[in-house]
Amino acid sequence: MNLRQTLILCLGVFTLSTVSAQDVPIKNTNIKATDSLPEDAIIVKRVPLESKKSISTTDALVVDTIPSSSEGLSIVLFNDNTWQYVRDRSISGTDDTVFTEYWDTTKTHPYNIELKDLPTSMVVDLVDTLKSYHYPIKGRITSKYGPRRRRIHQGIDIDLETGDPIYSTFDGRVRYVGYIAKGYGNLIIIRHDNGMETYYAHLSRVDVEPNQWVNAGQVIGAGGDTGRSTGSHLHYEIRYKGHSFDPLRLIDFESGDLRRETFLLKRTYFSPYSRFTQDFEEEVQSVEEDKKIEKEATAMKYHTVRKGDTLGRIAINNGTTVTKLCQLNGIKKTTTLQIGRRLRVR
Ligand SMILES: [Zn+2]
Repeated sequence: MNLRQTLILCLGVFTLSTVSAQDVPIKNTNIKATDSLPEDAIIVKRVPLESKKSISTTDALVVDTIPSSSEGLSIVLFNDNTWQYVRDRSISGTDDTVFTEYWDTTKTHPYNIELKDLPTSMVVDLVDTLKSYHYPIKGRITSKYGPRRRRIHQGIDIDLETGDPIYSTFDGRVRYVGYIAKGYGNLIIIRHDNGMETYYAHLSRVDVEPNQWVNAGQVIGAGGDTGRSTGSHLHYEIRYKGHSFDPLRLIDFESGDLRRETFLLKRTYFSPYSRFTQDFEEEVQSVEEDKKIEKEATAMKYHTVRKGDTLGRIAINNGTTVTKLCQLNGIKKTTTLQIGRRLRVR
C-alpha cells in the first residue's frame, strides 16, 4: 500500500465521516518513522467490538452521536475510537413503573411486600442486547451471604483497599444515598431496569446523588470502611422488592463475570439460609418443584412491541385476549404501547 496515499481504513457499520484528522491519533506500526504522511491524511481505525466499560473514567471527547436501529438508543463515538450505547430515558422501552412505584429517596427499605406475596419464580433479564453489566468490584470474598454469628448477613463482603473504585452493576437510577452510622456507613442504593436493587455499603466516597441515572460500569464511589465495619471492604447486596438473595448466584466476584444473562429467580432464594453453594443439594431435594418452575418459565412467551401494534392485534396473533395481556403485564387497556417494550403474552 502506498503510504503517501490517503489512508482510509473505514470498517464496520458506522459512518465516521465527521471524524476529523485532529480528532484521531495517528498511530500505525506499519509506518516507519522516516515515512511522513501527507498533510491531509486521515486514518480511521476499526471501531472496537466491545463497548466501553466505564464512562466516567474516560477523558475522551464525544465526536458524534448516531441513532441506532432501536428507538431510545444511540451510539456515541469518542475521539479515542471507542464507542458506547446511550439510552434516551424519555423513550426507553423498559417497564415504566420500575422507577416510579415504591420510589423513595429517603428510606433504605421502601418496599413493604411480604415474601408470600412474591411469585414463586420469575424470569429476570439481567442484561439485554446492550450487555450492560459490570462487576461492582473484583476481589476475594471475606464474608458470605447468610447467617453469621447471631446476625443475618444480607449481603456479601468483598475485600478492597480504601479508595478503590466501585462500579454500578447494571444500568439504573440512584434511589438512595445516605450515611448510616451503626450499619451500612456511606450507602448507595441503585434500582435497575430489571427491577432489582443493588446496595453498596461502607463507602469512603460517594460520587452520585439520588434520582441520577447511571450506566453499568459507571464509577459511583470509592470503597472504604465507614459504618459498622472492620477493615476496608464492600458490603454488597442484591434485593428484589426488598428481599435479598445471595449475590453469588449472579456474579463471580473473583473473575468479575456475570454468571448468566437471564436469571430464574425463585422465591426460595429469598432466605438467609439459601446460599448459592447449597444449590446442588437443594435441587436434588426439590426436583419436582424445579420441573414445575421450569415448565412455567418455558411456557412464558414475550412479544416486543413494534410500530403499529395494538393490544388487540397482539392478543389475536398470540391466541389470547386483551384482558389477559393486561393482567400479565400489569397494564390497562388504555396504556400507550411503547415501541420496543416487551410484553408477556403467555
Ligand atoms: Zn457485609
